[in-house]
Amino acid sequence: MEFDLIARIRDRAPGRADVVLGIGDDAALLQVPPGMQLVVAMDTLNAGVHFPVATAPADIGWKALAVNLSDLAAMGAQPAWCTLSLSLPEAGAAFVDGFLDGFLELAARHDVSLVGGDTTRGPLSVCVTMHGLVEPGRALRRAGAGVGDDVWVTGTPGDAAAALAALQAGAAVDRSLRARLDRPTPRVAAGRALAGVASACIDVSDGLLADLGHICAASGVGACIELDRLPASPALSRFKPDLRWPWQATGGDDYELCFTAPAAQRETVVDALAATGEIAATRIGRIDASTGVRAQCPDGTAWTPAMPGYRHF
Ligand code: ADP
Ligand code: MG
Repeated sequence: MEFDLIARIRDRAPGRADVVLGIGDDAALLQVPPGMQLVVAMDTLNAGVHFPVATAPADIGWKALAVNLSDLAAMGAQPAWCTLSLSLPEAGAAFVDGFLDGFLELAARHDVSLVGGDTTRGPLSVCVTMHGLVEPGRALRRAGAGVGDDVWVTGTPGDAAAALAALQAGAAVDRSLRARLDRPTPRVAAGRALAGVASACIDVSDGLLADLGHICAASGVGACIELDRLPASPALSRFKPDLRWPWQATGGDDYELCFTAPAAQRETVVDALAATGEIAATRIGRIDASTGVRAQCPDGTAWTPAMPGYRHF
């Protein structure tokens, strides 16, 4: 049964010239190009925690890879290879087929090869390890933000949180918002373009303010965000600011990049992102010498979110 599932996976797994040995042996053999650093990230998705239980298998597959690609994007790395650990409640050939549809569609877009994994029986859980490459010295880190740097965010945060809120309320969910929850777009090209340009970077998975807080903590600085600068998608713009701001500032699952760069680099940032044709970024605030992250209302008063960000425990 398990071997049948592995065979299904192996038959569809894409290759790459640098995969010396892929699925089928005790381990994979990968040829790291000379002079490059290996970048490794792992993320687990549990049913009911990281995706609604009723999520389509193809969307689970997409998201499992997307969240890992997003971590590599936040490091400025080029994705290359991944491994996949699947814990399945039953034999589930149909689930695996659907899962691979989404997983491999996204893998193909980024030329990522699935080189191995593990298949076990248990509660539905998916774990992916992503391997990528970066030029020495060019990786983006959480540490590095300097006082006076601009704070930027790619795309439009808050869409996934708005979709989740509607789902949890049993309300109708806007299709474009739902797509952002189920099929987030990892900002891989943006991360590559920002390598060597941004002073610090993180991907927004637990909420913009919370994740910017990690940049601040690692960099030994503080930050102030102006709420009226937060970019909103057309679908999100229909909500009033009191509803929209908490989703944009503290909602999870955005998988946008939040990064900092010296003000002198503004044009470089805009041009580098424009050259990718992927996504633009918006300046939303400034790094300062305080500690922690503050958010400011348009009238200059401090804004206190009801929920500071997603907490796993
Ligand atoms: P072992 O007992 O040596 O770990 P397995 O039967 O678990 O062997 O795996 C056999 C091969 O199939 C290995 O190459 C492994 O990487 C691959 N494999 C197992 N499960 C998966 C999976 N979910 N996705 C991709 N490859 C897998
Ligand atoms: Mg195994």
